[in-house]
Amino acid sequence: MTLTIYNSLSHRQQEFTPLVPSKAGLYTCGPTVYNFAHIGNFRAYVFEDLLKRTLRYCGYEVKHVMNLTDVDDKTIRNSQAAGMALRDFTQQYKDAFFADIKTLRIQPADVYPAATEHIPEMIELIKTLFDKGIAYQAEDKSVYFSIAKWPKYGQLLHIDRDSMRAGVRIKMDEYAKESVADFALWKAYDEADGDVYWDSPWGKGRPGWHIECSAMSSKYLGKTFDLHCGGIDNLFPHHEDEIAQSEAANGCKFVNYWMHCAHLMVDGQKMSKSLGNFYTLRDVLAKGYTGREIRWVLIGTHYRQSLNFSFKALEEARTSLQRIDEFIKRLKERTADATAEDGVQEILDKAAAAFTAGLEDDLNISTALAALFDLIREGNRLMDEGKLAGAAAAKVLTLLDRFDTVLAVFTPDEADSAPADIIAKAEARQAARKAKDFATADAIRKELDEAGWIIEDTPKGPRVKRK
Ligand code: AMP
Ligand code: ZN
Repeated sequence: MTLTIYNSLSHRQQEFTPLVPSKAGLYTCGPTVYNFAHIGNFRAYVFEDLLKRTLRYCGYEVKHVMNLTDVDDKTIRNSQAAGMALRDFTQQYKDAFFADIKTLRIQPADVYPAATEHIPEMIELIKTLFDKGIAYQAEDKSVYFSIAKWPKYGQLLHIDRDSMRAGVRIKMDEYAKESVADFALWKAYDEADGDVYWDSPWGKGRPGWHIECSAMSSKYLGKTFDLHCGGIDNLFPHHEDEIAQSEAANGCKFVNYWMHCAHLMVDGQKMSKSLGNFYTLRDVLAKGYTGREIRWVLIGTHYRQSLNFSFKALEEARTSLQRIDEFIKRLKERTADATAEDGVQEILDKAAAAFTAGLEDDLNISTALAALFDLIREGNRLMDEGKLAGAAAAKVLTLLDRFDTVLAVFTPDEADSAPADIIAKAEARQAARKAKDFATADAIRKELDEAGWIIEDTPKGPRVKRK
C-alpha cells in the first residue's frame, strides 16, 4: 500500500515517507478556547481525523499532538467581559471542545498541550532566536522576528522576497498576505491585558500566537516531524511564521508534509466567527441532526474542495446513512442462516481494493464512498437472490467494520436507535398480535406512529424504525 498526499510545501501530491518507518508524527493546530467551536472549525478537525484514521488504516502508528490556545487577544478580552479569571473562562470551552469532538467521533489526540502551560519553552525558543540575532526588541518593548535576517521566509506561501517589507512590524496574530512583516514573538504587557502576564528576559508580557505551536510541536514530536495540518487560513501567516521560528532556531527542517483543508462556506463566504455566519455544533444538534449526520456531511467532500454548508446536505446524509443501516441490518439478520456465498468474495475484494485505493490517493473520499455504495448495491442484489447468507454475510460485516475504522459513521447515534420504552411498546404490540388482539395491536402501532416510529413486519419479526 502506498499512501500519497498533497503537500502544501511542494505543491505536489507525494508519496508519504515518514521519518521512522511505520510511524507518523502529526501536529494539528487546535482551537482558541474563547467560545464554542463552529462547524467550520470542525471541518478542519474532522479532516484531520480522517487523515489520522487513514494513516492507521494504512498501518502507521500515529502520535498526534493538538494545541489548545488558551491565551491570546480574544481569550483575554472575552474573559474580562465575562468577569472571569482567564483560566476558569477557557476551561469551560476546553470542556465543550472535548464533548463536541466525541459527538463527531473524532479520535482524541495523544497530547493536548495548553499554551499557558508552556510559557518557559516558548521563552527558551525566543531566547535562541535572540542570541542568533534573528529576534530583536523594539521600542514598544515587544520582541519581533526579523524577516530580513531569515532569507528562507516565505517557503510555504511561495512569496516574492522583494514584496516583503523588512523592518515593518506587526503585533497582531493574524494579518493579510499583503502585510508580510516582522511578527511578534513576545508581546510587551499592555494595561488591557489586566492580570494576564508572565515575566521574561524582555520584561513582563505574553507570547505571540505562532510561537506556541513551534515550541509545543518540537517538545512532543521532535525538532523535525512528519505532518502538520490546519485549515487553509492557517497557512499564512501562522504556519509560515512557525516554519521561520522553528527552522531559524533549530537549524533543521521543521515539517516534511503540510496539509491544509479548504473552508466550510456559507453562501459563498467562509464560515467564521467574525462574519457572524456560523453555526456551532450545538446549534445544529438542537435542530435535530445527529453527530454522525454532521460528520457524514463534513467528510463527504474532498478536503481540498470548499464545501457549502446546508441543511439539505444534512437531510441527504440522513437518507444515505439509513441506506447503510438497512444494509447492515439485513446482513445481521442473515448471519445465523445456512451459508450462501455466490460471487461474494469477488465483490468483497473489489470493494476493499477500491476503498483503499481511494484513501491512498490523497484521501479521495468520493472513490472510497463509491466503493462502499457499490458493495451495498451488489450485496443487496445477492441477498434478494438468496446468494448471500451465513458466514458470507458475516464476512461482509467484517469488511464494513474495517471501513468504519476510517469513516466512523456506521454505528447509529443513540438518537437513531429506538429508546427502551419504544422497544417495549413494539414488543407489547407483537404479543397482542400473537394473542389475536388486533385492536390493541393497532392502537399501539398508532401510538408509536405518533411518537415518530414505524413498525415494519419482516420475515424475522417486527422492526422499529424512525419515521
Ligand atoms: P481558529 O480557532 O480560528 O484558530 O481555528 C481553528 C481551526 O479551524 C483552524 O485549523 C482553522 O483553519 C479552521 N477553520 C476556521 N474556520 C474554518 C472554516 N470555515 N472552514 C474550515 N476550517 C476552518
Ligand atoms: Zn498552530
